[in-house]
Amino acid sequence: MPLPQEGERIMVVVAHPDDEIIGAGGYLTYAIKNKAEVLVVILTNGEGNRLSALYVKNQPPQEIKKIFLKEGKIRQNESINALKIIGVEQSKVIFLDFPYRYLLKLFEKNWSKKLVYPYTRRDKPFYTNQYNQDKFYQGEDLFKSLDEIFKNFKPNVVITHNFNDYHPDHRATYLFVSSVLKNNPQLKSEVYTFLVHFNNFYKILNITSTTNFHHLTNFNFYSLPLDNSMIALKKSALSQYKSQLENPYLRYIFRSSLKKDEIFIKENE
Ligand SMILES: [Zn+2]
Repeated sequence: MPLPQEGERIMVVVAHPDDEIIGAGGYLTYAIKNKAEVLVVILTNGEGNRLSALYVKNQPPQEIKKIFLKEGKIRQNESINALKIIGVEQSKVIFLDFPYRYLLKLFEKNWSKKLVYPYTRRDKPFYTNQYNQDKFYQGEDLFKSLDEIFKNFKPNVVITHNFNDYHPDHRATYLFVSSVLKNNPQLKSEVYTFLVHFNNFYKILNITSTTNFHHLTNFNFYSLPLDNSMIALKKSALSQYKSQLENPYLRYIFRSSLKKDEIFIKENE
């Protein structure tokens, strides 16, 4: 994996607060160290992950709304704190506050039809910024927000989710980023993707590195070596996502992402 260099413009686009460190915490650390410009864009607040239907089922709608909004803020702050640890300032983080678990639906079915997020009963972002104000929960509007961000920041390197990831929000993030890049060929951005939920990807990497995945023929794997001090820094950043560490599966994913290298995938052109 080519290391980020001074003057480069690195944009990381992810679905949920925590994906940015799981997938690219080490890469972002190098980017900061080497004085590249960095921007992290997080499409949802990931609220529904901990607030299972079971938990909110018996609450009146007003209560559910409050619970979700509070959870969204908690997760945003966890990302802000985690990124601060590796040197990314809060001003370099954008939360678009689109609905958790519904990104694929926005891309496939609600491109120009507003979606009402069933939990908060909202059809537009609650936490607004210069990019998502006057936007609704529909694919077209998420596309527009991202398109503006790309046009302003002009990334020469983009890191995002891989289309083969099992999480529908992760796949949708890839689709939105790809559409925006198609709309901005002048940027000539290099795109690298990473997997979070994919088979036993991390488990296998533990034993034999990427050799087991060579049957995925249109994948080119790139490895970014992390030394012990970088792994320790990534671990400390991951420890900020306290809400996610309650979940044993996520604890496993977190632990698994603390390896001697971060793996990125570039598709054949
Ligand atoms: Zn995620």
